[in-house]
Amino acid sequence: MRGAVLYGPGDVRFEECGDPKIVAPTDAVMRLSASCVCGSDLWPYRGVNPIDQPTPMGHEYCGIVEEVGRAVTSVKPGQFVIGSFFASDNTCPHCRAGYQTSCQHKELVGGAQASRLRVPLADGTLVPTRDVPSDDLVPSLLTLSDVMGTGWFAAEAANVKPGMTVAVVGDGAVGLLGVLSAKLMGAERIIAMSRHPSRQKLAREFGATDIVTERGDDGVARVKDLTRGVGADAVLECVGTQESMMQAIRSTRPGGSVGYVGVPHGVALDGEELFFSHVRLHGGPAPVRRFLPELIDRVLSGKINPGKVFDLTLPLDQVAEGYRAMDERRAIKALLRP
Ligand SMILES: [Zn+2]
Repeated sequence: MRGAVLYGPGDVRFEECGDPKIVAPTDAVMRLSASCVCGSDLWPYRGVNPIDQPTPMGHEYCGIVEEVGRAVTSVKPGQFVIGSFFASDNTCPHCRAGYQTSCQHKELVGGAQASRLRVPLADGTLVPTRDVPSDDLVPSLLTLSDVMGTGWFAAEAANVKPGMTVAVVGDGAVGLLGVLSAKLMGAERIIAMSRHPSRQKLAREFGATDIVTERGDDGVARVKDLTRGVGADAVLECVGTQESMMQAIRSTRPGGSVGYVGVPHGVALDGEELFFSHVRLHGGPAPVRRFLPELIDRVLSGKINPGKVFDLTLPLDQVAEGYRAMDERRAIKALLRP
């Protein structure tokens, strides 16, 4: 089997990397219907997160189960399944509390930019659909593995409720799906912060009512202008930089909440500013496993189409072009088809 391996900054190779096999009795091996490149893959691709050895890439996946270990009982070969980027047992106290990405036995799933994948803790991690879905639904189902579930968690963590004014910092796939999630949760006004016309257009399709192109303190001032000086009730932080985090906190009204899902890179918070802001913070790696059953239903019933974030489709062996296109912001998100 061949898959994407990162060797260093800007150096993704599609190469032979050995067939995945059942290692533990709780594993499953699946044939992937599609995979994709994540915004978070760009951190090591750009050398911001250095790697010390060639690393198989990809953590978003869906497809057909081929083989299961002898301890697996809830999924079987032939089923179409979707799982989270973190494998989880779904039985420990943290999983039962709905935080499967903090599972006491969590394992990062890697190497999904390939034709086949080993998934640990298959019973806890994978959710099967009743039937094998039609091919046109695969892109939307694939987003549930990470970006749609992460946008959903951002909105949940920001405590979005019907009638609220919500601001979204970040116009990548997660930010755009955060807009969609806020809309589904009943937000009345959704301010998307973006300076890219194609992303603004998709944000509006997903439910954004206002677009703010300014960033940093200017962006904060625009959100304040749009809310009569008050600030947004809920803000979704979907980037992970110092500037985006401060933009999110300062755009939030006293008593409001920030849901932060951008993986922080060099973010340092000032305790005194936080204290006097009266803003609630919640976030972290999204427990997308918790949202899978509900979001699968919404996709299969045609109520949502989060797969619209894929504006570039490539054959799997051209994965390196997917990284380039996303790095240069020519594409929002690249879909890879085997
Ligand atoms: Zn657990």
